[in-house]
Amino acid sequence: MISATQSNHPLSGVIKPGESPLETACGHLRQARMRITKPRIAIIEALLQREAPVAIEQLHQELQRHQCDLVTVYRCLAAFEDIGIVRRSFQHNGTSLYELTLGAQPKHYHVACKACGRTDRVDYFPVEGPERMLAERGYTQITHIVEFFGLCPACSKKHARNAAPAIPATRL
Ligand SMILES: [Zn+2]
Repeated sequence: MISATQSNHPLSGVIKPGESPLETACGHLRQARMRITKPRIAIIEALLQREAPVAIEQLHQELQRHQCDLVTVYRCLAAFEDIGIVRRSFQHNGTSLYELTLGAQPKHYHVACKACGRTDRVDYFPVEGPERMLAERGYTQITHIVEFFGLCPACSKKHARNAAPAIPATRL
């Protein structure tokens, strides 16, 4: 189980004192007049176990013992995103990833490996410039998505090894 007391954890500061993250999540559902169903609870619990954003298919595999079909997982995550308790990010190939935020503002971005799909955190930085410019142009409720992509250290090493000549150049 993740610890919501970590200061850079997305859930830090959004869990009410004396409440479990699951209770806070259920509070959001009730506020949005969404029923608290077994599949919804199972999905929230599975998301709470994770440090990194997860793809729907992976989440679905973990939820099989709860008999959550893929369509239910899709619908629940879409509804959770609508009410702001999960945040969606993207892999290089466009696959959606989801993480539980319980309405918190982003405290970090992600970098996703283009080869193995591993994700890491990137410290949050403000994008006040573009947001101010848009506000001056009359935009309100401005949000943004920032994603980084690259080869992770392990894949970079593998890539470098594969690119190296099989015979050392000195023997040629
Ligand atoms: Zn990688």
